[in-house]
Amino acid sequence: MKRPGTVSYSLVQPIEVARVCPESCAFCPYPLGGRDTLMPFRTVVREIARGRQLGATMFDVVAGDRVERMPEVQRELQRERARSFGDYLVRCGEIVASSQGGEPRPARLDVGPLDSSEWGRMSRLYAGARLLLTTVDKEVLNSGALCGSSTQNPEKRLESIIAAAEAPIPLTTGTMIGIGESRASREKALRVLGEVARRYGHIRSVLLQAFRPHAATRMADYPATPLSDMLDAVAIARRHLPGVVPVQINALDWREHLPALLEAGAEDLGDLNLRVLSAREADARIEIDLLLKPLEEKGYKIERRSVLGFTDPIHLAGPEDENARIERVETH
Ligand code: SF4
Repeated sequence: MKRPGTVSYSLVQPIEVARVCPESCAFCPYPLGGRDTLMPFRTVVREIARGRQLGATMFDVVAGDRVERMPEVQRELQRERARSFGDYLVRCGEIVASSQGGEPRPARLDVGPLDSSEWGRMSRLYAGARLLLTTVDKEVLNSGALCGSSTQNPEKRLESIIAAAEAPIPLTTGTMIGIGESRASREKALRVLGEVARRYGHIRSVLLQAFRPHAATRMADYPATPLSDMLDAVAIARRHLPGVVPVQINALDWREHLPALLEAGAEDLGDLNLRVLSAREADARIEIDLLLKPLEEKGYKIERRSVLGFTDPIHLAGPEDENARIERVETH
């Protein structure tokens, strides 16, 4: 049995600035839209104040992929007097940076793939970003859960993941587990991410995002990822990633099974969503205690992180990496 080590987590206030998406992944509620298309800046300010009150260690600015393609988003950008969605995101970053009260809290970007100049622009205000290499399984991409979504093309996504290194902007990346992908394709995705992490040094954690059905989506009746698949994926990830890159899981999906997943090799409990925590209990702190106390009792040392170590880049490239070549992501 593995000796209990250090386990990290962060407390995140997600600010879903555009809970819409022009793509149509079958598991995702974003294409269904909602009441508001683009969050007004005054609401962004309110959300940040609320997150600070609850103890957020960072703010995630979240939107669907390339939402600027949607006419309704364009209309609302005009309402907010933003010339482009890029300008809008810059303003959101500025609002987080200038928010008052307590220690500064970093902002992280979760808006799908960007190109290198976009990453460069965002890196002034965002301490990091989240961009998953969702899957490299061609079946899932074309006829399965991703329904041919253009921004989910694994080659393009990988390009964007690598472009973030040039900005530089540190990344949480990862894959989805349980959307119909083969085990071999999971392994391939994690091997590629391991190579990218070694070569470019900007990957700060690799998330294994388990599928959970959302009401009203086309996969609402599809079974949730079983624990056995998740344990296997964690072990594969640990084999392929450099030791300094933690395997991240979403602890709120696996409350009953955290010891088993840590034993398998997970080291980060993910970004605990304050909105989910506080919606279930009046006090988010009680929820966090309930989640973490049993791990402390088993001997794990729990550390709360911000988006950082993001300020001190990892330099991994050594002589043994000189011949490292990022395998082309085959989609067959
Ligand atoms: S691209 Fe992302 S946000 Fe858009 S539908 Fe697919 S999973 Fe959802």
